[in-house]
Amino acid sequence: MAQTIPFIDLKSQYRVLEHEIKARIDKVLEHGQYIMGPEVRELEEKLADYVGVKHCIAGSSGTDTLLIAMMALGIGQGDEVITTPFTFIATGEMIALLGATPVFVDIDPKTYNIDPSKIEAAITSKTKAIMPVSLYGQCADFDAINAIGEKHGLPVIEDGAQSFGATYKGRRSCSLSTIGSTSFFPSKPLGAYGDGGALFTDDDELAKNMREIRVHGQDRRYHHVCIGINGRLDTMQAAILLVKLEHFDWEVKQRQEIADRYSTVLAGIGSKITIPFVEKYNSSVFAQYTIQVEKRDKVQELLKKANIPTAVHYPVPLNRQPALACPDRFEHSECAAERVLSLPMHPYLDDVHMEQVVTSLLKAVNSVE
Ligand SMILES: *Cc1c(COP(=O)(O)O)cnc(C)c1O
Repeated sequence: MAQTIPFIDLKSQYRVLEHEIKARIDKVLEHGQYIMGPEVRELEEKLADYVGVKHCIAGSSGTDTLLIAMMALGIGQGDEVITTPFTFIATGEMIALLGATPVFVDIDPKTYNIDPSKIEAAITSKTKAIMPVSLYGQCADFDAINAIGEKHGLPVIEDGAQSFGATYKGRRSCSLSTIGSTSFFPSKPLGAYGDGGALFTDDDELAKNMREIRVHGQDRRYHHVCIGINGRLDTMQAAILLVKLEHFDWEVKQRQEIADRYSTVLAGIGSKITIPFVEKYNSSVFAQYTIQVEKRDKVQELLKKANIPTAVHYPVPLNRQPALACPDRFEHSECAAERVLSLPMHPYLDDVHMEQVVTSLLKAVNSVE
C-alpha cells in the first residue's frame, strides 16, 4: 500500500524543530508581551541582516505588507500600478483595494515572471509604481525592471511572497528594489504557524512611514500622523520564525537538491513535460516545483487517483478574475494557466516519495493521449 504523500510536509519539519519551538513559545507565554514583544524586534533585525538591507518591518501577512508598501508610497484613487497577471490574487487585489488600477504586463514564458521588455509600453502619466512578482521562488529580472523604474521615476516593489531566500546575481530577494515584501504563510518557504509577512527597504523615510502605517499611522502612542491599519506580526509568530530562520539555509539547500533531482529525472523522459527554467544568474527557493504538461486537468485527475497531491498555481490569470476583470488578454499567461502543475515540494521529500510522484506522473502523462 503506497504511503500518502504530503504536498507540503509541515509535520516532519515540526518533528525536527519541536523542542526549540516549544522553548521559544514558552518564553513568550512567560513574558506575556503578545503584541510587539521583544521577539518581533529580534526577528526584524535578523531578517534585515539575512536579506542585506537596512530596515525590516514585520507585518500581519504578505497581503497586508503589499498594502502597507503601496500606502507608504502614496498610491491611491486614480493611480496605476504595473504588475503581472500570472500571480496570486493578493498582488492585484491590494492595488485595487487602494482605488488604483492594476495594469497587467505579460510574462516571460520561460520564467513565468513579468517580461521587462513589455513594461515601458504600459507606462502612462498615471503610473505610480511597478510591482513584479518573483514567482515560484525565482526572482524577476530586477536590473532591467529597476532601469525602467529609474528612467521614469517609478518605485519598484518586489512581491517576494514566494522567493524569500532566493538570490538574483548574488543579491537576496527583497533587497533588489525600492521595497521588498514577503509572506510567512505556513506553506511559504519560510513559514510561520499562522499569518505573517515582512517589508524590506534601505530607504529611511519609507521605513519610518511603513512602521507608522503598520500601527494605525501612529508615530507615538495615541498620536496618529497618517491613516494606517492594524498590520502587526504577533510575538508568537515571530518566536516561531526565529527558530525556523536558524534552519532556513539547510531547508533551502534541500529544496534546491530536490528540485535538481526532479529535473534530472523528468528532463530525461522526452518532450511531454516542461521542467522549470532557472536563469543562470538566479538561485530559486522552489516555493513550488512547477512543470507544464498537455491536458493538465486530466493529468492532475489521474495523479489524484494515484494519491499524488498536486496544485495549479494559477488556473486563471488576474485579468480574467471577475473581481479584477479587464478586456486585455495575455498570451503567455493564458497558456501557462492552462498547462502548469505543481508537484509535491518541501525540504523533507525523500527518495521513496519522489520515486512515487515521478512514476505516477509518467504513467498519467503517457495515458492521456
Ligand atoms: C502568498 C502570496 C501573497 C499573500 O501572502 P499572504 O501572507 O497569504 O497574505 C501575495 N503574493 C504572492 C505572489 C503570494 O504567493
